[in-house]
Amino acid sequence: MSRDRSARATTRWAIATHGGAASQHEDSDGCLRAANAARAIVERGGEAMAAALEATRVLEDDERFNAGTGSNLRLDGQTLQMDAALMCDDGRFGAVACIERVKNPILVAARVIDTPHLMLVGDGATRFARRLGFDDHDVTTDGARRKHARAIDELVGRGDGHFAEDAREWASIAIDDVWNFDAPMPDALKGRALGAVDKSGCDTVGAVVRDAAGRFCATASTGGTVYMLRGRVGDSPLIGSGLFAGPAGGVAATGVGEAIARKLLAKTVYDWLAAGISANEAAHRGVALFPDAIDVGLLVVSSHDAAIAANRTMAQALVLADGDG
Ligand code: ASP
Repeated sequence: MSRDRSARATTRWAIATHGGAASQHEDSDGCLRAANAARAIVERGGEAMAAALEATRVLEDDERFNAGTGSNLRLDGQTLQMDAALMCDDGRFGAVACIERVKNPILVAARVIDTPHLMLVGDGATRFARRLGFDDHDVTTDGARRKHARAIDELVGRGDGHFAEDAREWASIAIDDVWNFDAPMPDALKGRALGAVDKSGCDTVGAVVRDAAGRFCATASTGGTVYMLRGRVGDSPLIGSGLFAGPAGGVAATGVGEAIARKLLAKTVYDWLAAGISANEAAHRGVALFPDAIDVGLLVVSSHDAAIAANRTMAQALVLADGDG
């Protein structure tokens, strides 16, 4: 299955947003709302970074998506850790990984840019947020609890099949050997096996903006995949994997983080843009790097055009200066 949109931009700014590889097309209204929030900024002459942050904040606040409010719970059903990052074409980059109890991880990532660091993780990221005045905020939703229960059912053989492929991949390491949560492992999981994560249900969010001055910013924000240990980090906050931006454009990826990171997907696609390949061609080539079993989606915006491609359904929006949305 292939889903994509592409457009040759005849005007200056462009905004692309997504709700994650394997998210529902029906939820594209949330992506359009986010893109329109960014549009209001670029139409006033605002910067790509401000616009991309606003789009991502709107997506994080939409609990249908697995980022900010609505993020996935980890295997223990209690731990919720999030990753987020942004990159601008001038090299500014900020990321947080495994941050807990903040409403908008992307806004914390943006503040990392003001430090000498690229990324803060775990407790350090959460403390940094508090120090800057980000309130303690529980982003756990009933939807995330239901999703976790459904995923665990699958793992213990009582599932409805929705996460069957995800569960199948966790088949070579005893959970008991790797359980790293404070909460004891539920009896139901004892004796079950975990293995390499090659495929997992996702739904992260992201945005790429080209502003009226031709500047680029790419973002990614996620609650991660379905079956995660404490401390697991995917591609989303990794420079060149989940996102990349430079003078030739901006790229944001979504899908199975471990597979995406191994291919340095965002930088690989960016390099094609820099070599003069169209956004549409680059987006499709990027998706084609992966076997069908791996969820993957891409937002690609160059100086000339913009495209979205995915090998799953994917909530998305592409808004250009001429009003195409
Ligand atoms: N890439 C994210 C991760 O692996 C998940 C996603 O894009 O949906 O954490």
